[in-house]
Amino acid sequence: MGGVSPRLEDLPLRDDLRGMTPYGAPQAPLPVALNVNENTHPVPEAVADDILDAVAQALHEVNRYPDREFTHLREGFADYLGHGLSREQIWAGNGSNEVLQHLLQAFAGPGRTVFGFGPTYSMYPLLARGTGAGWVAGHRAHDFTLDADSAAEQVAAARPDVVLLCSPNNPTGTPLPLDIVEAVYDATDGIVIVDEAYWEFAPRDERSALTLLPGRERLAVSRTMSKAFAFAGARVGYLAADPALVDALRLVRLPYHLSAITQAAASAALRHADTMLAAVDDIVAQRDRISATLSALGYRPYESWTNFVLFTDVADPAATWRALYDRGVLIRDIGLAHSLRVTAGTEDETSAFLDALASLDSAS
Ligand SMILES: *Cc1c(COP(=O)(O)O)cnc(C)c1O
Repeated sequence: MGGVSPRLEDLPLRDDLRGMTPYGAPQAPLPVALNVNENTHPVPEAVADDILDAVAQALHEVNRYPDREFTHLREGFADYLGHGLSREQIWAGNGSNEVLQHLLQAFAGPGRTVFGFGPTYSMYPLLARGTGAGWVAGHRAHDFTLDADSAAEQVAAARPDVVLLCSPNNPTGTPLPLDIVEAVYDATDGIVIVDEAYWEFAPRDERSALTLLPGRERLAVSRTMSKAFAFAGARVGYLAADPALVDALRLVRLPYHLSAITQAAASAALRHADTMLAAVDDIVAQRDRISATLSALGYRPYESWTNFVLFTDVADPAATWRALYDRGVLIRDIGLAHSLRVTAGTEDETSAFLDALASLDSAS
């Protein structure tokens, strides 16, 4: 299911979409699925009941269009994020992918360019090209870190319309120090997006890019409920930015893009943020156990502030991926040489992965 039909050649497809491959993380019904960085802990029962009540309530009015400006949900996100944010500074969509798409529809588009430091989230180039914009990949050090001078120099040279900074970075897990965000912002007149999809897994005492918003009207910080909130299936993402930037996104969204069901479910889940986030500490502990065990097995894990670990010194990633698959464990081969990526699951899932890997004994 990864590629596209050869018959696509016969359709009058946009020239700039020809030869592209859709996002295609394999979906396979394996007992242990640790490949797309989901929170594998289910939503706690008490919270699920409350969400169900809220959704049932919303269904009574589902004959009407929902609140187009999702006012209540925006207030919920402003409260959750803190930092003195108000609802005019909040935007939301069906997953942060849609939020990013809105940003690129408004600020990228034909003839413009979007810049990011590779390797980074594989959706960025797809979202950029989907709007007709070009994608320019900058580079990182060998260990996937960045420094402020190099980052600013690369952005200044590329003169992009939009910069996407993934903090911490997927698929590498790498933290992004805030001095890099500041330096990149000063090096461009374009929009700077900091994608904090995994922020809740970062060390608690670290400062979010949200702290940089005051006085930076071209900066947007996006988040998602898909990872820490265990809400991937509900499709809810959001951002914080200057009210004028948020206003621009209303030009490109579809009318009533957030369904009444989605708004009700997300608002109810936010009321239980503490419970929803209860598994975060456990996931962080499993992540650190993965890193320690990988080292002991002779692999080299990269530093991670996320709910996954990228590790290298894998002799033959495709073979290791397949051998784990055959043992019922699905992880991700992201196409980086001698490397694989695994999501931290529950303690049992994590053990299943580590035991299966240990049984292969194939570290080079
Ligand atoms: C998972 C992920 C997202 C979130 O996607 P949703 O559309 O909110 O599910 C965003 N950015 C990155 C880097 C991710 O890995």
